Amino acid sequence: MKNLTSSFSISQKPKPDDLIVSINSRKEILFNKKNKNFFHKVPDQLPSQIFKIFEEDNLNIFLVEELKEINEECEYLSKKFLYSHLNENSLILISRAFQIYDWIYKQKFCSRTGNKLSEVREDLSKFCDSCTREYFPKMSPCILAAITHNKKILLVKHNNEIRTLSTVIAGFVELGESLEDCVKREVFEEVGLKIKNIKYLASQSWPFPNQLMMAFSAEALNDRFEIDNNEILEANWYSKENLPQIPPEPSLSNTLILNTLKTMI
Ligand SMILES: [Zn+2]
Repeated sequence: MKNLTSSFSISQKPKPDDLIVSINSRKEILFNKKNKNFFHKVPDQLPSQIFKIFEEDNLNIFLVEELKEINEECEYLSKKFLYSHLNENSLILISRAFQIYDWIYKQKFCSRTGNKLSEVREDLSKFCDSCTREYFPKMSPCILAAITHNKKILLVKHNNEIRTLSTVIAGFVELGESLEDCVKREVFEEVGLKIKNIKYLASQSWPFPNQLMMAFSAEALNDRFEIDNNEILEANWYSKENLPQIPPEPSLSNTLILNTLKTMI
């Protein structure tokens, strides 16, 4: 499955050779244990609501609610069992399917008036009759920052649920802030370092719950860091040869760390 292109429709119906993904109300996603994938043939009995979420050449992919009947090769997987099946393609699929599911089924009310919003429309918007405001789904922009100095990379352990992995500095973009200013601020807040030569590398949608991750590298002006104990458990400079355990593929932090090591001068 390559070149998944985002596309949305509430009116288009599946052709026999299209594919579906299915998410239930516990936000578990249907997984085929035998083929190890999240795409399924269009079943005879479809739920009443069905949304096109991708197109790929002549093939469309639809999001549907829980299927009444599934065969024994399939099961609904919860988030904690998903990680081991994530790769570049399944992450793109899951990221869009989960976020569209949340938007359609969980975002029901206008934040100004408390009025019930319309059903999702063909352009993915919802509408509030009482204040005439149009709503579109939201995502949260986040930066990742790999900091280098003298052929070493700074990796930290965050004070969160993933305490065993060493990774890059990360943080949410503040309202009104540019990405570059966010990188500077987060690095200074978390480890007290001033930086230069901020370079953008790549981005990735991350659906737990709705981040758009954007990866940067930068050089520290000196190596004397001072950690913010609320956010960071420990920080260290690492050379290529003595890397600690880092986040696995297909996470963007993995790509950023490996790429930074390759280009480190
Ligand atoms: Zn309203």
